[in-house]
Amino acid sequence: MKTLIRNGHIVTAVDSYNADILIDGSTVVLIGKDLEKIAGALDKTINATDKLVIPGGIDPHTHMDLPFGGTSSSDDFETGTRAAAFGGTTTIIDFAVQYHGQSLNQALDVWFAKAEGKAAVDYGFHMIVTDLPDQRLPELKGLIDQGVSSFKLFMAYPGVFLVDHGTIFKAMTSAGESGGLICMHAENGIVIDVLVKRALAEGRTAPKYHALTRPTRAEAEGVHRAIAIAEMANSPVYIVHLSCYDALKEVQAARDLGLPAYAETCPQYLFLDYSYYERDGFEGAKYVMTPPLRDKSNQEQLWNGLRGNDLQVISTDHCPFCFKEQKELGRNDFSKIPNGGPGVEHRMSLIYEGGVVQKRISVNRFVELTSTAAAKIFGLFPRKGTIAVSSDADSVIFRPNRDQTISAQPDHIRVDYSAYEGRKVRGVVDTVLSRGAVIVEDGVFKGKAGDGQFLRRGTV
Ligand SMILES: [Zn+2]
Repeated sequence: MKTLIRNGHIVTAVDSYNADILIDGSTVVLIGKDLEKIAGALDKTINATDKLVIPGGIDPHTHMDLPFGGTSSSDDFETGTRAAAFGGTTTIIDFAVQYHGQSLNQALDVWFAKAEGKAAVDYGFHMIVTDLPDQRLPELKGLIDQGVSSFKLFMAYPGVFLVDHGTIFKAMTSAGESGGLICMHAENGIVIDVLVKRALAEGRTAPKYHALTRPTRAEAEGVHRAIAIAEMANSPVYIVHLSCYDALKEVQAARDLGLPAYAETCPQYLFLDYSYYERDGFEGAKYVMTPPLRDKSNQEQLWNGLRGNDLQVISTDHCPFCFKEQKELGRNDFSKIPNGGPGVEHRMSLIYEGGVVQKRISVNRFVELTSTAAAKIFGLFPRKGTIAVSSDADSVIFRPNRDQTISAQPDHIRVDYSAYEGRKVRGVVDTVLSRGAVIVEDGVFKGKAGDGQFLRRGTV
C-alpha cells in the first residue's frame, strides 16, 4: 500500500514547511517536493493543500475499561480508541493495574486481554503498582524488558492505591537503575482522607465538596515530596495530571535545580474551573475528577508552564463515567462519585484553539506538547511523535482555519454528556492515518477494532 500526502504544510516539534510525504506500508519513506513524479504507482493520494500535516497525537494518560468505585469507566478499548482516532490521537498509553497479591505480569495479562482485538490505534501500558514487597522488585525490571517501562504510584486513595514512602523510594531506585520511569499521582491522600471524612460528618455531601476537600496545597505538598524522594533515589519522576499553580511552582523549583522532574497537565485544568461544581443540582458531579478543577486563576499559570517547558506534556486522564447510574452513585455522598471525565476525543482541537489560535504557544510547541514530548519521555521516539523517514506513518491532516462547536452529546465517546459542551474551537481533524492506513476520513471511521498494536516501549 503506497500513499502520497500531497502539498501539506508539515509541522513537527521543530520544523514547518510545505512538502509531500510518501508512505510505503506502515512507514514514511520519502519527504520532498513533487514526489508524484518519482513515486511510481500509488494506491492513494491525499490532497493536503492549505492543511497542516502533523504527527498523530499521543495521549499518555487514559483509563479504558478501568474498574473504579464499584463501576468501570464507560469506554472500553474499542470505543475509547475510536474516539481517540476521531480526535487525531493515534497512540494511547493506558494504565494496567496491579491489585494486592498479584504479580505485575498477572496484572499485565489482564490488560492485554482488555485491549487485544479491540484497540483501533496503537497502545502501550504503564503499570499501576499497589503491592511491592522486596521479592517483587525484580518484576519491575522484567516489565521494562517487555516494553512496559513506566509505573504509576499513588500518594492518594488510602486503602485502594496508596503506597508508603519506602515503597515509592524502592520502586524509584529499582526503576531508575533499569531506565524505567515512575509516574506519580501526587497528593497528600492521608490529609485529604481526614478532610473528606470531616466534610461528610458535617453533612457536606454535594459534588463541590470533592474539590473543597482537595486543596491545592495537598497537591503541591505531594509534588514536592515525590520530587524529593526521586532525588534521593537518583531517579527521574513524572508528575501526572498537574492541576494548579501551587504544584507547578514545585516542579519549576526542581527543574531550576536541574533535576529530572517532568509533569503533564490536561485540557480540563486549562479550560474548566471550580465554578462548574457550583452548577445547579447534581450537575457538578460531571466534573468530579482528581485532582479537582481549580480556581480559574490557575489556568494562565499552567499555560505559562507549558510555554516555558516546566510542563512538557498534555494528556487527558480520559476516564469517562456516565452521569446516569455511574456519577449518580454519589448523589448523597460526593466521595462515592466515580472520579474521572471524558477527554480523549477533543484534546488536539482544544489545545490548538487555546494554545495556537489564542497565541499562547507556537504551532511547533503544540505538536511537541500533544505528541513529540510524550514519545520521547515514554520511549516511543522516533518511531512515534514526529514525521520523518522511517517513522511510523501516524499522520493527522488538520484544518487550521475551520471552526467546530463541541456538541452536548459526545459523538464517539461512550458517555452521556460532554465536558466541553458548546465550546467553539478553531482547528478540525480532517484525515487520520495510523501506520499508513487511513482510519478516519470525511468524518467516517475507516479503521478496525483490533488493528491497534501493542507498543513495546524503550527505556528513558
Ligand atoms: Zn489517571
